Amino acid sequence: MTKPLETTPTAYDDQNVFARVLRKEIAADIVFENEGALAFKDIAPQAPVHVLVIPKGPYNALTTFLTEASPQEITFFWQAIHETIALFSLDKGLRLIINDGHDGGQEVPHVHAHILGGRHLGPLLSDPA
Ligand code: AMP
Repeated sequence: MTKPLETTPTAYDDQNVFARVLRKEIAADIVFENEGALAFKDIAPQAPVHVLVIPKGPYNALTTFLTEASPQEITFFWQAIHETIALFSLDKGLRLIINDGHDGGQEVPHVHAHILGGRHLGPLLSDPA
């Protein structure tokens, strides 16, 4: 069980679990891959469809990715999200979430998008302030 990050990380930790998935040191249930991104099922699914999409580059959080990634890397990431959504029967809708840093509830310090669907997902926040 991972814990929320204390802050948005500043340096990339190449021992984080998704870096290890990318190096094939840890098995993952991969559903889509292109030159710049990988999509695989979340190990603890919160919905019938729960897939993570990650860029292959070493970006610890969304804010870092948007600042440092090339337009091509960003395109590969969004293409992977698009293609992954198309693999599942999500005609009734879906939710795309990217948690960033401590306040965002990010646990794994490699930027990732959650694709969730297959049931009604309820309100945006489970714990509104
Ligand atoms: P976040 O809170 O946005 O950082 O989400 C991290 C997600 O990674 C959680 O939903 C975890 O269940 C998921 N996760 C952690 N380790 C693995 C793994 N080895 N394979 C697939 N998903 C994982």
